[in-house]
Amino acid sequence: MHRTVHFFYIEVIMSMEKLIELQGIDTKLRDLNDLLGDLPFKVNELNQQEAFIKNSLIEKKERLKELAVESHKGEVRIAEINDKVSKLKDQLFLVTNNKQYDALMHEMDHMKEERSTIETETLSFLEEIETLKESVETMESDLGSLSNEITVRREKLESVISDSAEEKSSLEQKRSNKVESLDLNTVSIYNRVFQARDGLAVVNLSGNGCGGCGAHVPMQKVTEVRANSAIHRCDVCGRFLYSENNSVN
Ligand SMILES: [Zn+2]
Repeated sequence: MHRTVHFFYIEVIMSMEKLIELQGIDTKLRDLNDLLGDLPFKVNELNQQEAFIKNSLIEKKERLKELAVESHKGEVRIAEINDKVSKLKDQLFLVTNNKQYDALMHEMDHMKEERSTIETETLSFLEEIETLKESVETMESDLGSLSNEITVRREKLESVISDSAEEKSSLEQKRSNKVESLDLNTVSIYNRVFQARDGLAVVNLSGNGCGGCGAHVPMQKVTEVRANSAIHRCDVCGRFLYSENNSVN
């Protein structure tokens, strides 16, 4: 019985130490992330903007190609029609009766009608081309200044990241070792409180109160926390409580 109790105390002390260390690691990780500020977010946002403009430019340029092909087709067809109409005009001199004359006139009218339709269509193509070209020009210049901004911010971000990368990965390694050495239940409580309590899940007793929220801690708990004989959490904020006097660090 004595042995069991003894081991239990050691386990409590060790768990509490690990929790304190875990909190220390997480606080450092948080400070590192704060160092990056909203740069990653900004860079991501700019990248998305850039991608959007690039896609839109591709679409517009494809449409421009289509329009060029279509208006060229129109021009070719109009030339064909003009050619045909002038041939029909020549034939008018050769007709021998009204029926032939009417037939030729009818065909010519038909041709002219088609030409007029194509001309209207081509005109609207040309207007669209004009608008698209202006918009492509604006977008390309926007893209230019955006790319500059992205480059500047990305370089800044990369330099901050590379400065802190080594420290961050070593902290993350330490964190995962620490987490593995704790039991799952404790870690899950820790993580929950950490999320809910603004990144502070393990706090020192402040007199007889919780060092996190200031709530009163019952004397029995205070005694046990000071004696390291049990792991307790604040009844109000849920944070793990420790007593600095007993902390190894
Ligand atoms: Zn509290």
